Amino acid sequence: MMRMRPHNILLALGLVAGGFGLNGRAEAPRPNILVILCDDLGYADVGFNGSKDIPTPHLDALAKQGTICTTAYAAHPVCGPSRAALLTGRSPHTLGGQFNIPYFNHQWGVSTKEVFLSKVLQDAGYFTGILGKWHLGEGHEFLPNQRGFDEFYGHLGGGHKYFPEKYRKEAEKRLEAGDTKIPPNTTPQLRNGKNARETEYLTDAFSREAVSFIGKAAEREQPFFLYLAYNAPHSPIEAKQEDIDKMAQIKDKMRRKYAAMVHCVDYGVKRVVDALKSTGAYENTLIIFLSDNGGITRFADNTPLKGGKRDVLEGGYRVPMFWHWPGVIPADRTFAYPVLTMDFYPTLSNLAGATVPEGKMLDGKYIWSDLLKNQNPHPDELIPVISHRSKYTDIAGRLNEWKAVRSGLHWQLYNLEQDPCEANDLSRQHPERMKDMVTMLNKWANTHEMPAWIYSDEERERWKHNPNPWFEGTFDLQ
Ligand code: CA
Repeated sequence: MMRMRPHNILLALGLVAGGFGLNGRAEAPRPNILVILCDDLGYADVGFNGSKDIPTPHLDALAKQGTICTTAYAAHPVCGPSRAALLTGRSPHTLGGQFNIPYFNHQWGVSTKEVFLSKVLQDAGYFTGILGKWHLGEGHEFLPNQRGFDEFYGHLGGGHKYFPEKYRKEAEKRLEAGDTKIPPNTTPQLRNGKNARETEYLTDAFSREAVSFIGKAAEREQPFFLYLAYNAPHSPIEAKQEDIDKMAQIKDKMRRKYAAMVHCVDYGVKRVVDALKSTGAYENTLIIFLSDNGGITRFADNTPLKGGKRDVLEGGYRVPMFWHWPGVIPADRTFAYPVLTMDFYPTLSNLAGATVPEGKMLDGKYIWSDLLKNQNPHPDELIPVISHRSKYTDIAGRLNEWKAVRSGLHWQLYNLEQDPCEANDLSRQHPERMKDMVTMLNKWANTHEMPAWIYSDEERERWKHNPNPWFEGTFDLQ
């Protein structure tokens, strides 16, 4: 864990005395920041990461004009904790956010003591918006508009059906009758806290709202921060027929639909880029694209990585990612060193010239200079990940090229540079390294907070009586 280090905005932008920076640009204004987050998107389900069957031409074009991060890690292999980490800059485990927040419980959410990235950017004069999935608390004090977002259009829960016309009537009828527990994935979309009547396929709706937000931002004197958090391609697997038809080459029906969902996101990104260009914002907008966790292996493709969503194997939390900013982020480049989503907070707040609150705890670091110079931002640092299963824990840690992982019953050791597929267990050849890394992970696990929300009373009792109930035996090497 580290505290925010102060960096000068000019240094952050790579500018030098005299007012000229990279590529001779005159001193640049603060960038707009657009984070496009997909949900459960497989590592290899975008063309820029090698997809052969899902066309994503618009994402691929941006990726090619930017830097593709091939070793980007979400902080957790499921949605809620991963998103909490992205917006707080903290590990979900030191935050008490190890689990998804259960539905229909307004008392739970990410602590209001945590100042979100959106809030520090808003305080720095940014026009801020979130479109799509929230998943960080449903009570009033936890809502996006209370956490630094000027504009919110989307839903609060972890998943949502995509065709409003198919569920809206029934949902509205039940809501009018006072039923507060309609299926959470059929709730109306909210616009700044109020129910809205959506009619479009949800991915298209969020793309439409993004275009609208960019238009509004163009009328202001402020830079913007837009967190475009598509719920696609998270289940339910629902796609438009016209997109499904374009994926006819995919034989598996489920994958065909999933591919159509991804393709629709890609088209949405085209609309967003067109809006940036038509408003003149494109040249000064930093775009970061990523997924919140790995794809579900039944229909997503995390090749060449092993495992998928919920796993501490690479396929669970190593996600597709690129950074794009014309003339600033190097084009046509692959960045193979680790990038953490927890790095966004210190890095983006710094780029924005924002003030991070005194004492704010951050588990990622400022990586801008390293990203530009193609240097490892995390040398000799342990990069841990945990997935609490029913009655046991999966855990892993990466240190430089080495990864110690317990996924299931036994500890294993991999050299990720030689073996990114985690196929060749080297624990017997390197018992001391194995032992040291397990010891480091055990030490880290002892810094965890009790979960701030949890599914059942029974589990809550277990956590009360034992600080880490699911760790029993986890750090035994036998
Ligand atoms: Ca997810």
